[in-house]
Amino acid sequence: MGCDLFSLATKGVQSLHPYQPGKPVDELERELGITNIVKLASNENPLGPSPKALKAIEDAFQGLCRYPDGGGFKLKSALAERYDVVAEQITLGNGSNDLLEIVARAFADSDSAILFSQYAFAVYPIVTQSIGATAIEVPAVDWSHDLIAMAEAITDNTKLVFIANPNNPTGTYVSNDELVRFLDAVPEHVIVVLDEAYCEYIDDDHQDFPNSGLLLPNYPNLIITRTFSKAWGLASLRVGYALSHPDIADLLNRVRQPFNVNSFALEAALAVLSDDEYLASSQRTNTEGMKQLIEGFDRLGLAYIPSVGNFVAVDTGRDGVAVFQALLERGVIVRPVSNYGMPQHLRISIGLQHENERFLTALAEVLGRNRV
Ligand SMILES: *Cc1c(COP(=O)(O)O)cnc(C)c1O
Repeated sequence: MGCDLFSLATKGVQSLHPYQPGKPVDELERELGITNIVKLASNENPLGPSPKALKAIEDAFQGLCRYPDGGGFKLKSALAERYDVVAEQITLGNGSNDLLEIVARAFADSDSAILFSQYAFAVYPIVTQSIGATAIEVPAVDWSHDLIAMAEAITDNTKLVFIANPNNPTGTYVSNDELVRFLDAVPEHVIVVLDEAYCEYIDDDHQDFPNSGLLLPNYPNLIITRTFSKAWGLASLRVGYALSHPDIADLLNRVRQPFNVNSFALEAALAVLSDDEYLASSQRTNTEGMKQLIEGFDRLGLAYIPSVGNFVAVDTGRDGVAVFQALLERGVIVRPVSNYGMPQHLRISIGLQHENERFLTALAEVLGRNRV
């Protein structure tokens, strides 16, 4: 072909850098020819799936030739009951990433600005650029969203603000007071997306974490997104949901693809919602694993960013990508975050006890320190 295909793409797409996923276990196995690999790179649930999810999928096999329920009636009903909203306030997504994109396409275009924080989740700039909107990145304070500065950065053409709470990859969070002050300062024409992918991990020690559902009636411009990929252990199935004012849900439902969540995802998500034991076990594993990693970092004299998620960013004190590579050679996959402007940090997902141990031992080796 004679023509330059690249130049056919929109400006935003031309300047896009694709999302960098965690390195898959299979890939490293092929490269190294070893099998006992530990992956702590994608904030996945280390417990494996809930048995209730597996059973639900098995039961759904016979429906493979049918389209899924495009309205997601059963899952929406269960979510509505659990989170004290009505089904008309819920939009289902192919993972919550799907919802982030649907929101952007519904409310912004190439004349719009979309606001998010420095160090915020990498999908926000991707979504922004893919629709040709202008990204405004507001400097963080102590690795966390500066909501006061973010409110001040809003202009007439700001259509959308993304807030990750807790934030990935830093693990920081904004408190209820900070959030309410922000929402009070935001003009009504600006949609605020509160991305709560990790909210199930918040424990009783963090009473100031927003109970965002309670804010919905007061702020019709608020959209809460959540996912079944993390604490609920269904990352592979791709299912998330948004809670909002019914009028907003109606708009989002116009933009989404008609069958964006498949039958197995719908059934498995419904099944895990009634598996409180699994959720409690996810939370317990996370609390214990976080403690184990932090104690390990303390012993190694490494600084880390205190996190309320299922991951923690640690400052290796040297080139993070080099440490990442050296860990790979030892069969441990973690996540470099240089693409976030954090060249010395690595993001470690909380694993099972023996996985965390493998990582800490490998890290001590790589850094040339003895484990105490
Ligand atoms: C993991 C994550 C998501 C969830 O992604 P899914 O598409 O639901 O798997 C959303 N937001 C943030 C900040 C995340 O880290």
